[in-house]
Amino acid sequence: MKLPAFVTLPLISCLLSLSFLLPTPAQAAVEQTLTLLFTNDTHNRLEPFEHIELKQKVGGIVRRARYFDSVRQSNPQTLILDAGDVFQGTPFYNFYLGEPDIQAMNMLGYDAMTMGNHDLDNGLNNLRQKVQYAHFPVLCANVTEKANDLLVFRPFQIFERNGLKIAVMGFISEHAWQAVALPQKEGLSFHDPIPIAQKLVAELRPKVDLIISLHHMGIWFDEPFAKAVPGVDLIIGGHSHTEMEKAQLVANGSPNGIGGTLIMHAGHMGMWVGRLDLTLNHRKQITQHSSERVLMDARWDLQPLPEMLESYAKRLRADMEKTIGEALEDFSVAGKYDGPFALGSLLADILRSSLKTDIGIMNTGGVRNGLNKGPIQVGEIFEILPFENLVNHFELRGDMLRKVVETSASRLKVSKNLQFSGLDYTLEGKKVTEIRVQGKPLDLQRWYSVSAPEYVFMGNEAISFEGARNVQMTDRRTLRDMVLDYIRLNPRLSHPKEPRLIQK
Ligand SMILES: [Zn+2]
Repeated sequence: MKLPAFVTLPLISCLLSLSFLLPTPAQAAVEQTLTLLFTNDTHNRLEPFEHIELKQKVGGIVRRARYFDSVRQSNPQTLILDAGDVFQGTPFYNFYLGEPDIQAMNMLGYDAMTMGNHDLDNGLNNLRQKVQYAHFPVLCANVTEKANDLLVFRPFQIFERNGLKIAVMGFISEHAWQAVALPQKEGLSFHDPIPIAQKLVAELRPKVDLIISLHHMGIWFDEPFAKAVPGVDLIIGGHSHTEMEKAQLVANGSPNGIGGTLIMHAGHMGMWVGRLDLTLNHRKQITQHSSERVLMDARWDLQPLPEMLESYAKRLRADMEKTIGEALEDFSVAGKYDGPFALGSLLADILRSSLKTDIGIMNTGGVRNGLNKGPIQVGEIFEILPFENLVNHFELRGDMLRKVVETSASRLKVSKNLQFSGLDYTLEGKKVTEIRVQGKPLDLQRWYSVSAPEYVFMGNEAISFEGARNVQMTDRRTLRDMVLDYIRLNPRLSHPKEPRLIQK
């Protein structure tokens, strides 16, 4: 493979020579320590959020700030990193496209981040605009612009802590790159990280004491990377949302004192912060290391919302309180798994009518809240549909559709079942005896057009859509966007009348 020109660019030596201008302690200690703190895939979770399994609120930048401060008080020699996907996940993103996240990272004292796929959700220009006032660099050594063959962000940065010189490089994997929507990567080229990393490490290794690779790659790619690029001492990873209690050592014969590369991820959504403490001897070999993950729970809750965030929250509240329609009756979600319910049917109807398909499918579990009779505010729709669910439309043959209906019917009153539009079915006891599509019996050989949240289509409700053809995903328009548009056009909502289930 031909390496892109930038790998040899004189910038590297330039950056290296600059690093020698940094002050060095007159007398280096025999042993030096370094504390790394890191997050990944924080996905716009600025405020604490309810964690279903832990039955408490976790995460939030205020708690993270408190924790970082407490670590810095006892050990000022810290390096704080983020492995990407800072953007996308809550209404704060839909409204501010990442601005408060970068501001928060400034306040928290982050030293570097790498680019995740979701950081490009509104394009490279949006990311560049949001990080232009960042107090830390975005690092990515393997994405270039086609127009000029230059890297979109700098490939690495050298830090100095306690007299230690530490290089941090940034990489994104092909897996993550493929998750970037096509229009957002137009004009950009992805390059295989491994040969680039090998080349960078060869140049950096003689000049620094420690090399960290900051990865938005997914855990599956970190180990092969560690084996192929043995000069990397630590990999701080993300993208796969992997929750690790401790760092994992991949042996690769490195002379760095531990004979390999330590890999660690810190879960996602900022519920954990990862921490690695290292001790190096006079030959800059790692003699001790310990790692842990620290839960961002109420322990760290000692401070009100910072002023910076409060001003965003105020604007957000005003936007969320806008009235867009009226519910003519209550849409309850009590007992939603028992069978068709008005809000589930309505959402399936909106999917079907927005994408003009024969059938609309909504997952019952995706309806997160009900709607009370009266005015409808924007924020209520965000509570019903908090996720950034894109929508798929595809074709399904009658026999495949029957399987979907039967699987869903077998889970009534349990969980993981579906709400349908354009289709009704008859149950005798627990058996599906008849399925009709728009009043006509289901034709097992016919192909029907179907719309459903991508989450459901991908099998996340344990219902398979295998065999579907002509699959297309809506580009950037979420189910919530469709519902908001629908209500703006049809502001008075009442319960759908068409039957979905006939119980005999
Ligand atoms: Zn990702």
